[in-house]
Amino acid sequence: MTFTYEALPMRVVFGAGSLRQLAEEAERLGLRRLLVLSTPGQRALAEHAATLLGGACVGLFTEARMHVPVEVAEAARATARDAGADGCLAIGGGSTIGLGKAIALSSGLPVISVPTTYAGSEMTTVWGLTEDGRKRTGRDRAVLPRSVVYDPELTVGLPADVSVTSGFNAIAHAVEALYAPDASPIVSLMAEEGVRSLVAALPVVAADPGDMRARTDALRGAWLCGACLGATTMSLHHKLCHILGGTFDLPHAAVHTVVLPYVAAFNLPAAPTAERALRRALATDDVPKHLARASVELGAPRSLAELGLSERHFDDITAQAKAQPYANPRPVTEEALRALLTDALNGALAP
Ligand code: NAD
Repeated sequence: MTFTYEALPMRVVFGAGSLRQLAEEAERLGLRRLLVLSTPGQRALAEHAATLLGGACVGLFTEARMHVPVEVAEAARATARDAGADGCLAIGGGSTIGLGKAIALSSGLPVISVPTTYAGSEMTTVWGLTEDGRKRTGRDRAVLPRSVVYDPELTVGLPADVSVTSGFNAIAHAVEALYAPDASPIVSLMAEEGVRSLVAALPVVAADPGDMRARTDALRGAWLCGACLGATTMSLHHKLCHILGGTFDLPHAAVHTVVLPYVAAFNLPAAPTAERALRRALATDDVPKHLARASVELGAPRSLAELGLSERHFDDITAQAKAQPYANPRPVTEEALRALLTDALNGALAP
């Protein structure tokens, strides 16, 4: 066995009610002029965070949007500049945390993250910006949040359907980390445990979004899966979802949920160690079918067609996939990619 593992400098504060430690976290980092970021839908939560920060908050920017459009990033950067902010507090899902990263990328302003979904962006150095229907991503240590506050109480309001797809988004990180070219024993442990924690918690969350024990297990799983995303290089699945989300403006978490079983069916025969770990975590002999069935039974969409995609988009998708090389346990021919997309379009593995 050979591997390289580089730990990211992460501070994680986890637990129900940990939002109340926000002012302490800001002080610890020496931040006194934070700009609070959120989506329009989470403005009330952003205002609550601002109240908790007291004098350490210099303003709010509540226009975060999916996939970080460049014009939104520009407006947020200008707000941070005008307010004389010395850092940002990103409270929300991957869209809001992505906005914090976009500000950090150009200004170096440190970010505190308070995730309220299971997307995992807070654990990574990956930033993304969307311009003219194309999403660019890159890695930069400057965008890694300095402190991450995980408070399961904040996820209680995440609707059951979004919780399920967001949870499968997290599971997708673990699946690809298990066969990543830079996989390592510690990442594989986190991945297997992250999947186990999420698949046990999601049915309870879907049935009772207010169940705090399940919410805690789900967020713990999402943290582990996010850490896997941050520690490894993602493959075909993330590449495809990135293209589908950025080009066709499809909902990020739902796309991940629908596509994952088909990429698993394609890749796992070439990744036996990853498959064994997933069989253990999911307690199944058929990982792809199990993923499709579990998500659909919890109310997730069953096909890309349901999300509005059609076969006429395939040329664009395959051209984009070919244009940028990416790691994958199996070589991906255009024919194989079209077959995979056709199955995902029709929900071939879904019950
Ligand atoms: P999101 O942040 O867009 O959130 C979805 C919706 O749910 C938003 O309207 C938001 O306001 C609302 N919401 C979030 N938390 C809520 C809560 N607790 N209660 C009620 N409503 C809530 O969606 P997402 O799936 O978290 O993030 C997707 C974005 O994150 C994509 O742009 C994706 O590319 C990016 N992402 C980036 C990375 C990375 O490493 N850079 C990793 C994962 C995802």
